[in-house]
Amino acid sequence: MRGKVALVTGAGSGIGAASAHLLAERGAAVTLVGRTESELETVAESIRKRGGEAIVAVADVTDSDAVSAAVEATLDAHGGLDVVVANAGVNGTWAGIEELTVEEFRSTLDINLVGTFITIKHAVPHLRRGGSVVVTSSVNGSRIFSNSGASAYSSSKAGQIALAKMLAVELGPRGIRVNAICPGAIDTAIGDNTDVRNQSAKIPVEFPAGPIPLTGNTPGSSEQVAELVAFLAGDAASHISGTEVWIDGAESLLQG
Ligand code: NAP
Repeated sequence: MRGKVALVTGAGSGIGAASAHLLAERGAAVTLVGRTESELETVAESIRKRGGEAIVAVADVTDSDAVSAAVEATLDAHGGLDVVVANAGVNGTWAGIEELTVEEFRSTLDINLVGTFITIKHAVPHLRRGGSVVVTSSVNGSRIFSNSGASAYSSSKAGQIALAKMLAVELGPRGIRVNAICPGAIDTAIGDNTDVRNQSAKIPVEFPAGPIPLTGNTPGSSEQVAELVAFLAGDAASHISGTEVWIDGAESLLQG
């Protein structure tokens, strides 16, 4: 990663913060994008304390002008762009279709899918040959369709995978790789922004040791996901493009 420049959205917490830390630790200069400046500054400070290079660009990924400004700030500060981690996302509202409002459905799609499009769109003109885009999708919308009420979230996550695959083909001739990662249950604060309304019980999964074959009831960590992000971002993954990679301890194979 030395000499490379990475822009990470949703970098103030969870998977985004861990990915930014790891990319910086491996030598990349990073731009931290999100809506909450104080959280981004805390991550930037922590990266700098460990000898890394980081700037903060406050932007809502649904705001095209703000994301464009974040990319410009990256070019000004670091002189180029090699890696984009389109990771910002929300669980949004989980409810049955009669409960879920059009505005709620649209809001989840807007942040998770349109926000991913906006992020990549503004980055692409500046991505150097050998560049890599990593999109944080999910097991929901790719292998798991039994989380009742998650129709907006799953649709947004399925859309991210389709977008990543389309762009892998479109950008391949320019030497840019595009992949999607599909985490299972990861221990982050994402549940804090979830509005679950009137949901029937989740379809039960019976397994002797819990829902995750590899770890039972223990979710993965942001740091484990960051290792996958850094791998896909780097030259070790130089022939990997247009694929989704599940990181879920085989959870999604049990809970289709
Ligand atoms: P998280 O800690 O809540 O991280 C999400 C980040 O996205 C936050 O830092 C949030 O910061 C930012 N964000 C949300 N809306 C934004 C917007 N409109 N513009 C810019 N930034 C925005 O949760 P996480 O688990 O690390 O989630 C990261 C990604 O992983 C998401 O795409 C999520 O769908 C995906 N994922 C998570 C899990 C899991 O189990 N945790 C599983 C599968 C997939 P601000 O609110 O301050 O902007």
